[in-house]
Amino acid sequence: MRIVILGAPGAGKGTQCKRVVAEYGLAHLSSGDILRRERSEGTELGKEAQSYMDSGALVPDEIIVKMMASAISESVESGFVLDGFPRTVNQAQELDNSLQSSGQKIDAIINLNVDDELVSQRMTGRRSCPECGAVYHIENLKPKVEGKCDNDDADLVQRADDALDVVANRLKTYHEQTKPVVGYYKSNGTVIEIDANKDADEVTGFVLDKLEELASALK
Ligand code: ADP
Ligand code: AMP
Repeated sequence: MRIVILGAPGAGKGTQCKRVVAEYGLAHLSSGDILRRERSEGTELGKEAQSYMDSGALVPDEIIVKMMASAISESVESGFVLDGFPRTVNQAQELDNSLQSSGQKIDAIINLNVDDELVSQRMTGRRSCPECGAVYHIENLKPKVEGKCDNDDADLVQRADDALDVVANRLKTYHEQTKPVVGYYKSNGTVIEIDANKDADEVTGFVLDKLEELASALK
C-alpha cells in the first residue's frame, strides 16, 4: 500500500503513522524526521533547511521533492506512508508525476482533521526521545516516568519549533499553503476524512478500519 497522511502540524500524523506501519509493515517516510536527521548530521541539505524550519516556514519545494523522491525509491518493495509530504499543491503534482512515470500511484489519502486550538496544545506539549524518536505529550500521552523515554530512559526533549511563537507561524503556513493540498486530492479522487480531535487510540481505530477496507479491496 502507498498512503499519504495529511493534517496540520501537531494533528497526530506521526503518532498514527507509527501505528499504521507497525500493523502493515510499511516504511514511514516523514519529511520532518528526514530533515531533522539531515540537520543533526550537519549535511548541506540540513544546513539549507535550517532557517526555514526554525521560523515555521516551508523548505523550498525543489529541495523537498528531490529528498522525498529518493526516500520513496528506497521503499518501492515495502510500500510506504508519507507523513508531512506533500505540503504544497506543487509538491503533490510533482509526487503524482514521479509515481506515474514509474507506474505507481497513491492508494489512499487520509486527512486528520483537528481544531486549531487543539493542534497548538498538542505541539507545545509534545516531547520526543532524542535516542529512539518516540513521541509523547506532557498531558495527553505521558511517558511512565515524567521526562524519560519508556523505551530507553533517555531525557525527553522539546522541539525548538514547538515554541508558542513558531507554532503560530506553522499554523498560518498550514492554512495558506498546505490545506489546499486536500482540495487538490479531492478534485482527483477520494480523501478519507478522519475526526482526529478524539484521543489517539480512537483515531487509530478509525484509521485502521479504513485501511482494512482498502487492503481487502486491493487483494
Ligand atoms: P504531527 O506528526 O502531525 O506533527 P504528532 O503525532 O507528533 O503530530 O502529535 C503531536 C502531539 O500530540 C504529540 O505530543 C502527541 O503525543 C500528541 N497526540 C497525537 N495524537 C493525539 C491525540 N489523538 N490526542 C491527543 N494528543 C495527541
Ligand atoms: P514536521 O516535523 O512535519 O512538523 O516538519 C517540521 C518542519 O520541516 C516544517 O515546519 C517545515 O519547515 C519542514 N518541512 C517538513 N516537511 C516539509 C515539506 N513537505 N515541505 C516543506 N517543508 C517541510
